[in-house]
Amino acid sequence: MDCIFCKIAAGEIPSATLYEDEDFRVILDLGPAARGHALILPKAHYADLCEIPEELAAKAMILAKKIVSAGRKALRCDGYNIVQNNGEAAGQTVFHFHIHVIPRYTGDNAGVTWTPGTLTEEDRQEITACMREALK
Ligand code: 5GP
Ligand code: ZN
Repeated sequence: MDCIFCKIAAGEIPSATLYEDEDFRVILDLGPAARGHALILPKAHYADLCEIPEELAAKAMILAKKIVSAGRKALRCDGYNIVQNNGEAAGQTVFHFHIHVIPRYTGDNAGVTWTPGTLTEEDRQEITACMREALK
């Protein structure tokens, strides 16, 4: 399998590494949404959130918390977005699980928001019914 994030996570391709431990490498994104945009990459390959084991997913979120705390001090940002895309329809372009950790600066206009729609009564009923069933 030819996966760029496997190679970066393994150190085979050089990257701007902010942090590394036995499970993860945290790097700077080459196309940042804002200054300090980082990516948390597990060293093992999982395509997305469905594939990654629960324990590792939990560790990844704990690591995101650590990066946010450090970034608040080091980068003096005003906020953070945590973004994690799954599937082409959702904007995933690299099919190796990763979490975007995006510092935000007041007025930066980084494009990580959406235009709110409307929750219709029909959707409210249908979605709560089918999702409650699926979550059992
Ligand atoms: P996705 O759209 O899959 O959620 O995010 C992929 C991210 O990886 C993009 O933000 C893109 O800029 C970044 N990216 C793609 N290739 C490379 C690379 O070779 N090195 C680094 N550091 N970032 C990359
Ligand atoms: Zn991979």
